[in-house]
Amino acid sequence: MQMVRWICAIATAGLATAAAVTTVGGAQPAAYRVCLDPGHEPAGDVGAVTQASFPGGEYELREVDLNLDVAHAVRRRLLELNVEVVMTWDGAGLGWPETGAPDLPPAEILSPDPETSDRLGLKARGVACVAAGAEVMFSVHHNALPGPGNGLTTLYRDPGFGQKDQDRAVAQVVHATMWDALNPGKRSRGFVDFGLLRGDWAVARGAIDIPAVIFEPVVISDPQEALRLTPTIAQAGARRLQIVEAEVAAIVAARPAVRAGLAGVSP
Ligand SMILES: [Zn+2]
Repeated sequence: MQMVRWICAIATAGLATAAAVTTVGGAQPAAYRVCLDPGHEPAGDVGAVTQASFPGGEYELREVDLNLDVAHAVRRRLLELNVEVVMTWDGAGLGWPETGAPDLPPAEILSPDPETSDRLGLKARGVACVAAGAEVMFSVHHNALPGPGNGLTTLYRDPGFGQKDQDRAVAQVVHATMWDALNPGKRSRGFVDFGLLRGDWAVARGAIDIPAVIFEPVVISDPQEALRLTPTIAQAGARRLQIVEAEVAAIVAARPAVRAGLAGVSP
């Protein structure tokens, strides 16, 4: 656990300067409205970086790229399930291929300015989710470790830092759902359940009064995992899809726990 805490690239200190955030009006409280936050930023803290080696080449797997890729795919699936999705940023200013795809409605982007969308401050991400009327925030990350190992971790906020204990309830559902999806039948030897990890995660600090959970489905510093997620490798699509489906299932499964907390907040 300590290793995970040590290496997790989510800044636990040093709040970044909040970028301008556009408030999105028209929240629909009847629908399940979630906020996806692709972790890190392409022009700054890119998160974990792994050099994946394979016969015939090498590939630099950057966490920020993977986070954005997975977040877009999760959003696409959630839209099919009639879940409302807002994103803290979507790479529009970077020419991200899915942005503006004809089969997708435009993403509701909380920081639409290309000049700032990839430099959204950590605390601003949670603030933006709340401002958009999201009921829950999911920050999309992938873990790294200083040594060997691969497995699942789910991060949530410590209620000791002023957050409601609801975060733990939501995180428990998320974690259990993802474990089943990522390790079906417990067949993946060496894939470890690192469990829940609570902390004062900077990326979640702005999400006041809504639960915030941080996905860390796999460890991309693991050479085999990095290979599975390298786009030039044939099997990368299957592993990516498994992670996407795990996160979609977790988000859907968490809805009652999210709603229970909202009911409790009402006077
Ligand atoms: Zn990260």
